Amino acid sequence: MSVEPGAFVEAQCVGCHDEQCDFKPIKVLRRKPLPTDIVIEMKYCGVCHSDLHFSANHLKNVLPVQYPCIPGHELAGVVTWVGSDVTKFKVGDHAGVGCMVDSCLKCKQCKTGQEQKCKKQVQTYQGDDWSGRAAMGPGGQRTAGGYTDVMVVQERFAILIPEKYPLEMAGPVLCSGITVYTPLKLYGAKRVGVVGLGGLGVMGVKIARAMGATVTAISRSASKRDFAMSIGAHKYFASSTDDPVPDSLDLVINTVPVNHDHTLYTKLLSKNGKHVLLGLHASALAAMFASILTLGKSRLAFSGIGGIPDTQEVIDLCAANDIFPEIQVHAVTDINRIYEKLDASNDAGKRYVLDIAGSLTKDTFATLDTAPPTKLGEHGASVTLRGILRELLFMLFSRLTYGV
Ligand code: NAP
Ligand code: ZN
Repeated sequence: MSVEPGAFVEAQCVGCHDEQCDFKPIKVLRRKPLPTDIVIEMKYCGVCHSDLHFSANHLKNVLPVQYPCIPGHELAGVVTWVGSDVTKFKVGDHAGVGCMVDSCLKCKQCKTGQEQKCKKQVQTYQGDDWSGRAAMGPGGQRTAGGYTDVMVVQERFAILIPEKYPLEMAGPVLCSGITVYTPLKLYGAKRVGVVGLGGLGVMGVKIARAMGATVTAISRSASKRDFAMSIGAHKYFASSTDDPVPDSLDLVINTVPVNHDHTLYTKLLSKNGKHVLLGLHASALAAMFASILTLGKSRLAFSGIGGIPDTQEVIDLCAANDIFPEIQVHAVTDINRIYEKLDASNDAGKRYVLDIAGSLTKDTFATLDTAPPTKLGEHGASVTLRGILRELLFMLFSRLTYGV
């Protein structure tokens, strides 16, 4: 893939034009690469449940999408060009991009590798390019993500993928891996429960075990018991059955993507245990405010992705310990079907990964517009300000009354 100095970079992408998530081929111009940029020829991109939340505008009352939406924040590929100021990468390296492509680079959070907490952080897709360092080409304000054949990104926000780590596995580590790693590292817990065995939950079980924890996998039914044990869980709890209820967990990492009765899992905690909600729903956002209002004393907390140094750390940890996501690789033309699987609770527990190099190229681009439309359930916009406030009041009240 050639990069003309001073020229925009043409990218073939797939994106959706409304909440129906019916993906179509879209061409965009990515910005002219800067001296601090690298250009990545894309090989694979994981599909996160957040992609569904954004594409279907589940958060429209708090974080509305501007269509077209070109999702993808689990990118993996090969470096084909480096700017003159780049020091971390050379042509031919394996590189990836997770959930962020820019931040202010000056504040305390940025300087301490917590870029995800910077007020000016720019998401890999649907981010507002306030600096000009992040966006697509002319006229493009919202960033375009990883369902694309080429990515231009500042080296500071790119992750060096260890040579031996399979590229198709790498993208999911950069979102699902880092998202579970952050609370595991922060709380250093020894008895960990992981709720929801999908893309994040599977990585939660594997990484927690590698970090020395005793891990209880918690799923809705008994159907994932064998799967959970095969990926390294020490114990299994099916929350809808008569399984003996685990208790005294120091940390519960909850990846359920929809509003649900989270109190069930808070009750599994030891006296000083934490229940970290990761799913993007009203309770998780309320937990974030509850944590702030109680100066971190609330048992419920929210955690969002992780910083760039920790993202590098987690992929290095995965490479060193042979930790891999449970993936299924698909042609880009399957994207509508993948969204249906995520929407229907991801019963297989897989992380679906798009084979970009094999199915989204200049040659295949013209043939991509053939898949039947996506059929999604009636979830609507589940996150509302009113819903968040109601949950927040519930959390503050229940903490005072019965310690949940
Ligand atoms: P996923 O692959 O679809 O897996 C979600 C899992 O949750 C499912 O496998 C299922 O596990 C359980 N589940 C699904 N529907 C449920 C329901 N109605 N009630 C109870 N449990 C249900 O999703 P993912 O990619 O892991 O993402 C999970 C959530 O994390 C999403 O909301 C996503 O947006 C969010 N996320 C947050 C961050 C962050 O920074 N905080 C980063 C990435 C993703 P069982 O079958 O085992 O019950
Ligand atoms: Zn994600």
